[in-house]
Amino acid sequence: MRKEDKDILRKYLPEGAVDSISSDIVRYKIAFRISRPRATKLGDYRAGMRGLPHRISVNQNLNPYSFLITFVHELAHLIVFERFGRKVMPHGIEWKQTYHLLMQPYFENNIFPDDLKKVLIRSVQHAKATDGSDVELTRVLKSYNQQQADPNEVELTRIADGSYFKIADGRVFQKLHVQRKRFKCACLASKRLYLFSPIAGVKSVSDEEMKDFLNFIKLNKTTRR
Ligand SMILES: [Zn+2]
Repeated sequence: MRKEDKDILRKYLPEGAVDSISSDIVRYKIAFRISRPRATKLGDYRAGMRGLPHRISVNQNLNPYSFLITFVHELAHLIVFERFGRKVMPHGIEWKQTYHLLMQPYFENNIFPDDLKKVLIRSVQHAKATDGSDVELTRVLKSYNQQQADPNEVELTRIADGSYFKIADGRVFQKLHVQRKRFKCACLASKRLYLFSPIAGVKSVSDEEMKDFLNFIKLNKTTRR
């Protein structure tokens, strides 16, 4: 790998992981892309077929540990695809074993801080997915984010059912109830239902803002005729 490319990786990964990830990219001929932040996923893998290389992308806004874990998650998909094609489940036993194996050197070389290592080992042993559904892991990972947490932001789990909240893009939701460890919430503008992680960072909406918002909706409904 060219030195310039390696230097780019160095900005995103823990120092102790740069060499091994560079070798993986070369060894598996991965077309690797650092992607703009996507709300729906941390990274993805697309199988190399018909002469195209394997493609892996990881979101650019992840902290170094999260970036590494996401890369390894996707690399495990690649290795499973090379061995089994599409004959096995995406996060089945073959993927779990591969992911487990790939993570070992990072545990042995103490790439992760102790608190993170502890929950991560537990997560890997129980072979949970690293896509944000493991709440404990996500919470510890989040504590390593560089950006200062917004003081007005609270975890969704800490606000009462039925109350209104807004997210970073300004959309307003009502928190409804728990469904399979996630919270069902209704988007007021689109009247659609969404499932949120219990630790999603949200901001509360004041009564004043709520009144404004409802007026806005009413106004737009009447002027559209
Ligand atoms: Zn996956």
